[in-house]
Amino acid sequence: MIARDVIKAFGQGEHSVRALDNVSCEIRQGEFFTLLGPSGCGKTTLLRLIAGFEMPSSGQILIDGTDVTGRPPNRREVNTVFQSYALFPHLTVAENVGFALKMQGKSKAETGARVSEMLALVKLEAMAGRRTSQLSGGQQQRVALARALAPRPKVLLLDEPLSALDLKLRKEMQVELKRLQTETGITFVFVTHDQEEALTMSDRIAVMSAGKIQQVGGPREIYTAPVNRFVADFIGETNFIPVRPVEGGARLPNGSVIAAQGSGTLLTIRPEQLRLVPADSPGSLKARVTNVVYFGTDTHVYLELEDGTGLTARVPSPADGAPMHQTGQRLGLGFAEGAARLIRE
Ligand code: ATP
Repeated sequence: MIARDVIKAFGQGEHSVRALDNVSCEIRQGEFFTLLGPSGCGKTTLLRLIAGFEMPSSGQILIDGTDVTGRPPNRREVNTVFQSYALFPHLTVAENVGFALKMQGKSKAETGARVSEMLALVKLEAMAGRRTSQLSGGQQQRVALARALAPRPKVLLLDEPLSALDLKLRKEMQVELKRLQTETGITFVFVTHDQEEALTMSDRIAVMSAGKIQQVGGPREIYTAPVNRFVADFIGETNFIPVRPVEGGARLPNGSVIAAQGSGTLLTIRPEQLRLVPADSPGSLKARVTNVVYFGTDTHVYLELEDGTGLTARVPSPADGAPMHQTGQRLGLGFAEGAARLIRE
C-alpha cells in the first residue's frame, strides 16, 4: 500500500481544514503497520482514504501496485474493522462472518468452509449459532475480525478496534490481533492514539501530528532514535536540554562536550538514562533536586539545571523504600553511554 503526496482538505475557503498535508508512506505487504498520533492528527482520515470512504483532494493511493484512488471501497480488496464493530444483531455469528462471501455469490459449501476456518481462527467455533447480541464485547470484537478477514482482503484496516474494551481484555486482544496478523499474513493498518499499544504490536509505526507523518520506523527506532521533539515527547517520557551541536556530539550548557548521535539543537535523554552523581563529579551538569516522588519500583527525581531547564530522572527505589535523594539537594548529572541524542525542535 502506497500513499503518494496525499492532501485532504475538508470545507471551503477560510474554514478549510487540511486533515492530511502532503502525506507519503509505503506500507509493506504482510506487515503490522500502525498510524499513531493524538486526536485530530489525521490518522482516521488516512485510513478512510485507503478504504475508499473518502477521496483525496490530491495525490494517489496504490494497493498492490494498482492506483485505486478513484475506486469505491468494494473494488479495493480492503476491509475495515470499526471501533463500534457494526455487526448485524439479527444474524447469527456464522451468518455475520459469511455475509460478505454470500454477497460475492460464493457457493454455500465454500462459504461454510471459510466461515468454519475463520471461527477457528478467532476461537469462536462454539458460538457459530448464537446471535451477536448475546455475546460479550470481546466476543463481538472477534466476530468483527472474523467477518472482516473472511473475504481475504489484501489489507485490513483497523480504526481503534480495542478502545471499547476494558484494560484486561484489551491486553488479551492485543496479543490476539498480533497472532491473527501473523497467521493470516494479511497487511494490517492499525490506528491508535495509545503509544504503548503501538510499540507492543507493530512491525513499523508512523507517528503523525497536524496532518503530517513525523517519522516512520520500527518500535525500537521510534523510541530510541526519535527525529524531533514531537516524536520524542509523544513516545514515552523524555527530557530536553537546549545544546549547541558540535562535530559528533553536543556542547552542554556547562561548556562540556558529550558524544551524541542524530542532528538538531535539542539533546534528548530518557529519565531512566540520566545518572545522578555527586555534585563535584568532573564534567557533570550541576542540578538541584526540586521534588522526589516514590512510584514503587522506581522513584522519580525532579531536577532543575542552573539555567532553569527542568528534567526528570527515574532511578530504582532502594529495597527498604528509604529515599536516596531530598528536595533541595545539589547533584551532578551524567548520561548513560550512547543514550543522549540530538533532535530537531
Ligand atoms: P481522532 O483520534 O480524534 O479520531 P484523528 O487523528 O483520527 O483523530 P481525523 O479524524 O483524521 O483525526 O481528523 C483530522 C482533522 O480533520 C481534524 O481537524 C478533524 O476535525 C478534521 N476532519 C475530519 N473529518 C472531517 C470531516 N468530514 N469534515 C470536516 N473536518 C473533518
